[in-house]
Amino acid sequence: MNISVAIEEFQKKIPHTVTLIAVSKTKPIKLIKEAYAVGQRDFGENKVQELVEKQEALPNDIKWHMIGHLQRNKVKYIVSFVHLIHGVDSLRLLNEINKQGFKINRTIPLLLQVHISQEDTKFGFDTDELDKAIAHCKTLESIKLCGLMGMATFTSDSNQVRNEFQELKTLFDKYHSDFGENPVLSMGMSGDYHIAIEEGSTMIRIGSSLFGSR
Ligand SMILES: *Cc1c(COP(=O)(O)O)cnc(C)c1O
Repeated sequence: MNISVAIEEFQKKIPHTVTLIAVSKTKPIKLIKEAYAVGQRDFGENKVQELVEKQEALPNDIKWHMIGHLQRNKVKYIVSFVHLIHGVDSLRLLNEINKQGFKINRTIPLLLQVHISQEDTKFGFDTDELDKAIAHCKTLESIKLCGLMGMATFTSDSNQVRNEFQELKTLFDKYHSDFGENPVLSMGMSGDYHIAIEEGSTMIRIGSSLFGSR
């Protein structure tokens, strides 16, 4: 199936209230253009250099999502254009984003990543650190906290995945009033987006189901 058909089919099967981010990491510009041609505007990348190169080569009305782990020394390359930074997982990273946003007089939209999976390898704040992180966000003038992001454990046990998404949704509801006008709950990938949507996701990040395996 080609990418334009895949995008159209996917958009049809998800609710209008859920934003589809086409995760285009490792995929060529040409494929992104094809997706763009059928109206796709939200794209996700996980590497700063690749994100910058694609942003420069592609139309300006694309909304670029930084979905991967972001290193502090690379924040400066993306703050001028990034639509949303999903994986913010430390106070030091928050401070750096704030500093770079301030420099260019732009308020940078971001999500706090919460560690909901049972894997050690996935980044994010622990649940008990979230209070402090959200309080810290309120002291920073050049960032805009828009919501939460999380990744479930990579497992075939759908009950476990559901429980983890429910945990994130509970936190999302708890802090709802801290997330501005259009609160974002970024959860769900190719393997688990249907569960994520059932559990209240507002934004899904889909790569392989659209573009094929990497
Ligand atoms: C790669 C990636 C995705 C997309 O994964 P698929 O399984 O290909 O849909 C989603 N979120 C993050 C953070 C990723 O790095």
